[in-house]
Amino acid sequence: MADRLHKGEKILRGIAASTGVARGRIVVLDKARTTVERRELPEAEAPREIARLEAALGATRKQLQEVQRKLTESIGSGQASIFDAHILVLEDPALIEETVRMLNAEHVNAEWAFHTAAERYAGALAAMNDEYLRERASDLRDVASRVISHLAGHDNDVDLRHLTEPCIIIAHDLTPSKTAQLDRKKVLGFATDIGSKTSHSAILSHSLRIPAVVGLKTASQELETGQYALLDGYNGLIIVDPTDQTLFEYGQLVRKQVTLEEKLREVVTQPAITLDNHRVFLSANIESAANAADVLANGADGVGLFRTEYLFINRDAPPSEEEQFQAYREVAARLKPHPVVIRTLDLGGDKLLSHLHVPTEMNPFLGWRAIRFCLAQTDIFSAQLRAILRASAEGNVKMMYPMISGLDELNQANALLAELKEELRAKHIPFDDRMEVGTMIEIPSAVLVADSLARRSQFFSIGTNDLIQYTLAVDRMNEKIAHLYDPTHPAILRLIKTTVDAAHAQKVWVSVCGEMAGDPMLVPLLLGLGVDELSAAPALIAPMKYLIRRLKIAEARELAQFALATESSHDILLRCHDIVNRAAPGLFDHQP
Ligand code: PEP
Ligand code: MG
Repeated sequence: MADRLHKGEKILRGIAASTGVARGRIVVLDKARTTVERRELPEAEAPREIARLEAALGATRKQLQEVQRKLTESIGSGQASIFDAHILVLEDPALIEETVRMLNAEHVNAEWAFHTAAERYAGALAAMNDEYLRERASDLRDVASRVISHLAGHDNDVDLRHLTEPCIIIAHDLTPSKTAQLDRKKVLGFATDIGSKTSHSAILSHSLRIPAVVGLKTASQELETGQYALLDGYNGLIIVDPTDQTLFEYGQLVRKQVTLEEKLREVVTQPAITLDNHRVFLSANIESAANAADVLANGADGVGLFRTEYLFINRDAPPSEEEQFQAYREVAARLKPHPVVIRTLDLGGDKLLSHLHVPTEMNPFLGWRAIRFCLAQTDIFSAQLRAILRASAEGNVKMMYPMISGLDELNQANALLAELKEELRAKHIPFDDRMEVGTMIEIPSAVLVADSLARRSQFFSIGTNDLIQYTLAVDRMNEKIAHLYDPTHPAILRLIKTTVDAAHAQKVWVSVCGEMAGDPMLVPLLLGLGVDELSAAPALIAPMKYLIRRLKIAEARELAQFALATESSHDILLRCHDIVNRAAPGLFDHQP
């Protein structure tokens, strides 16, 4: 099918991120915003440009003051004072004088003049030896981009609320915060130039059930708003101007999928038990309390990963303890007695919060992320831990820490948790003192000390998205090296086996909550390696269950033995396909 091409069509090939087919008009986002344009204007327009500049500076100041006010309310004036430096940039006489001079002397547009003046200063600051001054360069650039956005008449985020007709969104990148804003009624599908299967935007598209293709490299440059296209989220394609024949073939694929989904619905209320009676726990990954309704409806046994970061994004200030408590409580109470594993804040990497002023990093995935951020920002962390503890009184709540690299981090987090429990006890605030606390295993160092971690954890959850990224040194966001992102690499399988063995030796159960868990082709392999629970997007639970009910754990164990003794990841994958296609023929064939 990959070679299909009917006359008059144009096909762009990327990486399939979320299944489904969408047809509609394209809207290309943020094409015009990658560069600041220089426009020469008549001399007489200089006063108008100066007035526009003043208005944009005023609007930016108001915006920053508002962010600062909200931040002060929620986490105190310490953090919020960061914005003083930003506001000062707006009042910097040298920067403003230089911009006005250019407007009067060179007769250019205000965007260009301000951008050029700000870059001149930022470049000089960035070259300084002093770390403090270098950081001011990033403040300056941050503020400059806000001012330029105001001048250009849009705010800092692509505003997806202005979509009037259902469409297919094409963007260079959709950050997780932008993806979280997508409205299923308006967005039929989306496609991006960058990213891979495990970038967070791709992960979110599953939860939103929006067909998606990522890693298209140049789609946002090649495509134009208004073109008609078909997006194939099964095979990672965008077909521009599809012919009637193509539309007909895809119509058939969609009909086949509908029949299949009806068949899958039958297993929703049945347990995930293999033909030889091995019970598997299937849990759902969710991003917000609103997703709680999808969990049991799709046949999951509970929540295996609640990514709490999404409570923190698309807003001007972090959520208060009370707001978090309400969100966690709602999910716990709704799903009671089923377990809900709440993961503490994993911000950083590709999930950035504008309001927390995390400076731009050279290697964000190796940087100030997840537990590292939380252990440094104990106000934010403590508020979250208290909210989770309080919610534990309302249901079957468990909690886990992301990005643990070794024992120290786990001990520090647990020490803080113990202090907060004391505090709640003293105030007679109820919580479940026996709430299980687990460790995410997603850094190779954690696997190598898994025996120590297992002695201090009630469960493990293997985050394969990061474990693969860090073990194989393959950036999970980078489409250029997506072919090297290899879940069946023998190194990965050995790490999973080591983790399972270390955990089981201490009677600690093991879940897998990365995207690998929801890939039906890899389900038998993970079960054969001894994993107790698989956690994936709600939409993936039914096919996983359907498959498990047609498998024997004995053959899954044989497969794992074969895999652990095999050197070629390709051979391992072929054997996985054999087993799955024998157990569920045709189930995972999505060719039109
Ligand atoms: C993982 O790394 O596999 C994981 C589940 O966490 P996230 O994708 O949110 O980094
Ligand atoms: Mg992770």
